[in-house]
Amino acid sequence: MSHVAFAFVLALALAFFSYNAQRLVRYLRIGNGDFRLNDIPRRVWNLFMIGIAQTKILRDPSAGPVHALVFWGFLVLQVGALEIILHGLIPGFSYASILPAPLHWLFLVSQELTAGAVLAAVAWLLYRRVVVKPKRLQGDGVHSGDAIFILSVIGGLMVTLIVTAAAERVLGADIPTMAQPLSAPLAGLLGWMSPGAATIVRNTSWWIHALLILTFLNYLPYSKHLHVIVSLPNTFLSNTSGPGTVGAMKPMDLEMETEVFGAADVTHLSWKNLLDGYACTECGRCTSVCPANLTGKLLSPRKIVVNTRQRLLEVAPVIVGGDDVFGMPFIGAAKGDDGTRAAVLEHKLLDNFITEEELWACTSCRACVYECPVSIDQLEIINEMRRNLVLTESRFPEEIQPAFESLERNGSPWAFQPSEREKWAEGMDVPTMAEMWERGERPDILFWVGCMGSFDDRAKKTTVAFARILQAAGIKFAILGQEESCNGDPARRMGNEYLYQMLAKQAIETLDRYEVTTIVTSCPHCFHQIGNEFPQLGGNYEVIHHSTYIERLLADEMVPLKHDDGQKLVMAYHDSCYLGRYNEIYDAPREALKRALPVVTLVEAPRSRDKGLCCGAGGGRMWMEERVGQRINVERKQELLATGADAVAVACPFCMTMLNDAGAKLESTVPVYDIAEVVAARLQTGDGRRETGG
Ligand code: SF4
Ligand code: SF4
Repeated sequence: MSHVAFAFVLALALAFFSYNAQRLVRYLRIGNGDFRLNDIPRRVWNLFMIGIAQTKILRDPSAGPVHALVFWGFLVLQVGALEIILHGLIPGFSYASILPAPLHWLFLVSQELTAGAVLAAVAWLLYRRVVVKPKRLQGDGVHSGDAIFILSVIGGLMVTLIVTAAAERVLGADIPTMAQPLSAPLAGLLGWMSPGAATIVRNTSWWIHALLILTFLNYLPYSKHLHVIVSLPNTFLSNTSGPGTVGAMKPMDLEMETEVFGAADVTHLSWKNLLDGYACTECGRCTSVCPANLTGKLLSPRKIVVNTRQRLLEVAPVIVGGDDVFGMPFIGAAKGDDGTRAAVLEHKLLDNFITEEELWACTSCRACVYECPVSIDQLEIINEMRRNLVLTESRFPEEIQPAFESLERNGSPWAFQPSEREKWAEGMDVPTMAEMWERGERPDILFWVGCMGSFDDRAKKTTVAFARILQAAGIKFAILGQEESCNGDPARRMGNEYLYQMLAKQAIETLDRYEVTTIVTSCPHCFHQIGNEFPQLGGNYEVIHHSTYIERLLADEMVPLKHDDGQKLVMAYHDSCYLGRYNEIYDAPREALKRALPVVTLVEAPRSRDKGLCCGAGGGRMWMEERVGQRINVERKQELLATGADAVAVACPFCMTMLNDAGAKLESTVPVYDIAEVVAARLQTGDGRRETGG
């Protein structure tokens, strides 16, 4: 009879779960198409490394191992859960009846040790959530009650697993003590029980365990713990760690017949952006590393994702129909002002859930994306919404209007004439592509100078330094001079895809006209844009950042350097986001510094390499006022100064400006140098110069 009852309960539970799973999939369908089944080997690798090996979770040295333990324990215990289900359906079924005894004992040990470890982890996580209350788990409408309920259910599952096994031992199960390290001692304590009492304990505990499994399963679709099911598929389908070019913004078809560009609501996002909402664990790792949030701005990447899910759960039932009492999720869903369909449809993701202020606070540093343990792309939602603000609504901070106008008129975000682009090279004998072309020559590399490197007085020193290194190393190079114009990256990051595509196509046309194949640039934003995003528009070039190029020249001993002058120097290198998290270049700048300065000691700020804190200039923030909270560049500069370094090294003209400005605010005398300046300062002069292409 109990098997019939269990079969009935199981069928009911699976049917209800299946109903909810289909409902949630129907909601995803209101999003746009997005093909995600390319490069399967890479996706499997991500699934294994991020999903199974939990490499992202383990980046947090305190809570990470405990969460990983619960996850791995969850996987191990699924084998036991299957036995429970089969036992409920088939009278007398147990793995003992199909496995050789040693293998069965191994199974029992694995279950009990895992249950013990998970129980300890759950106790610690409950203590942390209820008593310690870390900042990362607060705010953004995070539902602690939901987490406490799920942790309690997991704890209950572990306890009943052990109690059931202990009662079976009391009833005479013939299993070696060593195979049941937890239930055997418990059985010893329960030895006084009569067989009748032990049977009641065993059956009650077994039923509670089985019902908790089915309750857990059916609670998931109504809770943020949906991630238990969705996180692995989400990691498999994510592009944040590849396949494709990491960090590249989504291509956009401007010829498309549409009244809405970018995303104002969940119906304009892709189904994958919406799946991200289901996968979010609300762990707050993204927000805890967001430079905007850390310095007091309104932006929280977790809120961006949670609000996207809330809006989806508010509007999707109305769009797809079936907003009955079972269909409407009760956790994480928002409600229309008066709960009516009209009010729900009047809402939008933009403004009602996510404000302009949040969107414009983003520096596009990718710290949130990098940190997310379930491979969510918070930045893609922000970028799509910025596109909507600019292209569809013409709503953007007024201070970026001059940058847009200047980009359109002068091909530079600053109001400089193209004729001023090559002024830095006066007297340096640096040829332009046009001059070389006329002579029938081709350079080995094109030095893409960039707008900062061409017009900004401080950045021009880096440009000169790099050109001097190239000349000293005998590299045949050229610049575009007046023919260079902005590649459009600032416009793209600020949501102006029209302007971006216009500038990018123009740049590609110029580069292709000169049959350019290899480009070196000292700007990480130009490096990323030309190398990683131009291919979307048909521009394919080998692009090398100057830090990598200099490092190679030094390694090949092509740069004639002065001998060690014995001067000891302590330097702190600041990682640029577009070199680091966008392109994984961390070692080349550090190696270049060490090779150029044999007596340099490199010190690291607490947040460095892939955990590096942004300087605050990315995502077009360079052109916007920072009115709220602490300035990001000041926060970063303080951190770099606290290392006690004699100087700060950078490999980006934007970082240079931001850290210099912060230095002035802090009245610091610690200088900031670009890698190229450090190397150029050690060049031999006179006969140290090799024959150059200039
Ligand atoms: S990209 Fe950087 S600034 Fe933008 S939300 Fe993510 S962490 Fe914050
Ligand atoms: S987006 Fe990722 S990192 Fe942020 S709260 Fe959700 S799961 Fe955590």
